Amino acid sequence: MDTKYIFVTGGVVSSLGKGIISSSLACLLKARGFKVTIQKFDPYINIDPGTLNPYEHGECYVTEDGHEADLDLGHYERFTNVRTSRANNVTTGRIYQSVIEKERHGDYLGKTVQIVPHITDEIKRRVKFLGVKDDYDFIITEIGGTVGDIESLPFLEAVRQLRWELGKNSLCIHLTYVPYIAAAKELKTKPTQHSVKALQEVGIQPDVLVLRTEKDIPADMRRKIALFCNVAPDSVVQSQDVNSIYKVPLNMHRQHLDEIVLRKTETPFEGEPHMEKWMEFIEKLDNATETVNIAVVGKYVELQDAYKSISEALLHAATYANRRLNLVYVHSEKLTDGNVDERLADMDGVIIAPGFGQRGIEGKFVALRWCREHDVPTFGICLGMQCMVIEFARNVLGLADANSTEMDTHTSNPVIDLMEEQKNISNLGGTMRLGAYECRLDPDSTPGKAYGTETVRERHRHRFEFNNAYREAFENAGMKCVGINPATNLVEVVEVPGKKWFVGTQYHPEYSSTVLSPSPIFRSFINASVERHQMRLMAETEK
Ligand code: GLN
Repeated sequence: MDTKYIFVTGGVVSSLGKGIISSSLACLLKARGFKVTIQKFDPYINIDPGTLNPYEHGECYVTEDGHEADLDLGHYERFTNVRTSRANNVTTGRIYQSVIEKERHGDYLGKTVQIVPHITDEIKRRVKFLGVKDDYDFIITEIGGTVGDIESLPFLEAVRQLRWELGKNSLCIHLTYVPYIAAAKELKTKPTQHSVKALQEVGIQPDVLVLRTEKDIPADMRRKIALFCNVAPDSVVQSQDVNSIYKVPLNMHRQHLDEIVLRKTETPFEGEPHMEKWMEFIEKLDNATETVNIAVVGKYVELQDAYKSISEALLHAATYANRRLNLVYVHSEKLTDGNVDERLADMDGVIIAPGFGQRGIEGKFVALRWCREHDVPTFGICLGMQCMVIEFARNVLGLADANSTEMDTHTSNPVIDLMEEQKNISNLGGTMRLGAYECRLDPDSTPGKAYGTETVRERHRHRFEFNNAYREAFENAGMKCVGINPATNLVEVVEVPGKKWFVGTQYHPEYSSTVLSPSPIFRSFINASVERHQMRLMAETEK
């Protein structure tokens, strides 16, 4: 069949969940046996979000092929179980960069280079790229930003042209917001009407409207919206708030979003999507009564999107362990020897978060020492693993000034050091060790048993590494290097095997955890945490 292109735009306000709607639709189409991918076009000028502060844009997600991407790509993978790549996330910056490179190369043969057609042609080429490269049945393209923004105009113009060219092989879903005015006790449709008008003004008529709402929108109100917006009444779908994003696909299916899309794109289909495994997950999520308490120690605690993939991976693992996840963010800048006991005593497991720079680092050492001495399941990820190594060096090996050269270039014990290949790099964007690399695991180690395979491929985003000159000293003192990159000898995983669960990974396993295939190492960590929870309960009843 021809590749069908679905465009998802957003109106009224940002943060309505275009990524979740796109992912939910993809999840349903995939469950019907179609080959689907999702891509995101972001209107900002940065080449990628890799150089953006988490306060600006939440977590930076990393694809297998080493692209620093928008966090929505994480949702795409978690909902569809389909890997994304650098081609799935394009920014205005990248579009302009390639147009300017072509101009410098003389490719435009003396013509004046303009937004229309040169920038829009480049956008169109990128939109269609995955369809040309692989034979997808559906390519869902999410346009970042909100209709009416100056910076999304070239993208909308490209969508307008593509809809014209592709005809029935394309479709536009517009996501808007229907606010509830508490004082008037009324839902309001006017913002939706205005945002559809704004879309029509740039020549795009949406085929489907998804209305985000806190309260149920009555059928007559949906019909009124359909009438005002030139959309078929059965193509106005509501997305009412639910307590888990993973329920959105089921909610969309109940309102036939997948069928509407298939009918409108004239795609033959029969039967229902195979959502059995997904529903089993939702049942577990709903039926878990006992909790598991997990702390994430990091410096971006006010902004939970900064640790999005970690919190989702924990949720996947806890759900499969039939536990309700109680996730507590602990501010590493505020953690001291004086309050650590009070902050962490009720925790069943502790994650030491990834990150960059000195801020909040001492609190991570405080947490790590406390966890190690109290034998609490502890999982250090990337910088968290590096901190695990430093804390162990300081307090077990007795190297008081041990540090990473990221924090102290003059330390006499650089147990974590800049990777050789990083030494001559000056540009910050896209220059870290990025993407999936192989790691060989000791089969007798906790991570080795968790994965059940000798080699794993997980994703990376770092410049510093375990300094192999110290390896023997660490191993003799009880911290083992149980995961190694076979090509470079880089230490990927450390473990203190004498402890219940004390593991650090240089890689980020959270990026590859999905609803249908949760991360084995997160599951192992959660299982150990559940065990501690049970022990704590038993100890309490004995009291
Ligand atoms: N700052 C550390 C490094 O560059 C860790 C990075 C991370 O946690 N992603 O190596």
